[in-house]
Amino acid sequence: MKKNWMKIAVAGALLTSGSLVPGTALAGDNGPNGPGYTGTETIMNGRLHNYDEMVSFLEKLEQRSEALDLEIYGESVQGRDLYLAKFGTMDEDKPTILFLTQQHGNETLTTEGALEVIKYLSSNGKNVQDIIENVNVLIAPRLNVDGAEGDVNFSLDDYVSGTHTRYNANGVDLNRDHVDRNQPETKALHENVLQKYSPDYMIDLHHQGARTTLGETDELVSGSILYPTNSEVAPEVREQSKKLGSVVYHAIDSKGYGLLSKYVGGTAPTISRNGLAVEYGISTLLLEMRGMADHYREDYVLGQKSNGYLIQQAVTAMKATLNALADGSIDSADTSFWDTLPESSYNAE
Ligand SMILES: [Zn+2]
Repeated sequence: MKKNWMKIAVAGALLTSGSLVPGTALAGDNGPNGPGYTGTETIMNGRLHNYDEMVSFLEKLEQRSEALDLEIYGESVQGRDLYLAKFGTMDEDKPTILFLTQQHGNETLTTEGALEVIKYLSSNGKNVQDIIENVNVLIAPRLNVDGAEGDVNFSLDDYVSGTHTRYNANGVDLNRDHVDRNQPETKALHENVLQKYSPDYMIDLHHQGARTTLGETDELVSGSILYPTNSEVAPEVREQSKKLGSVVYHAIDSKGYGLLSKYVGGTAPTISRNGLAVEYGISTLLLEMRGMADHYREDYVLGQKSNGYLIQQAVTAMKATLNALADGSIDSADTSFWDTLPESSYNAE
């Protein structure tokens, strides 16, 4: 049932984007101004991969694929295994990138996109060969496995759907725990992924409120991006992060559904975008996508109608980055767009 839905969603998104002039933001149902949660509909989060379905998906792919190496790198508060998908030789002379999703358990489509990319890299195409011969790829889907199951030590009674939460089982925001690493999920990520594989790049995929706009306009964005902004980040790391952002921006902007703003974010090193750049010199990018699976704020919840294009937006960002690392074109990426990219505003209505 799930596989059929995924196919339909992907086919629909491709059909829609293919019928449009590149760079034109959609005004219809499958763009950033498309439908969100109305306050009355039933949220159907059962269509997303739950934990068991995600693990089964990954294990089946590993059985079929020579390229995919699946590793368990830690355990959540509630005892769920944390999975890392690895592709490539892990030679130190090749660039290494980490895609991290769902530090916040209610930000689900990032993981759906990551699973699509893992499936893609497990296939045998020429483009896939080019990528895994030239890039070490690490994909850590769903860091907050407990929050994504709603299996937490606090009540979700005030949530719209009551199925997913931002916080881990102890009620901690994992993306504020990158200095102390008090939680088992962040501790495992640092010790068994970041320190073990020393990635050069990281894209941290999230979701934001459903009513984020491009500057002061009424135009809703499909997503927002930002590089590390902490003052301790080395200038060359920040510059390479901006290049990473350039690759992602131009890939998404060329899609009919794509409209990105500059995320307005803080400088705290407890956030992975900043902390990983400061501590390890990793070039990082935050990619925030529109709307969430669940929240206690109704205007943050998107519902499922826009899932197809948002999953594709995550896939587009990841594939474009892999291609730019594989052929080295990331080094000549034009970062000037950052100077004119409008910052996000929020129209809560
Ligand atoms: Zn988030």
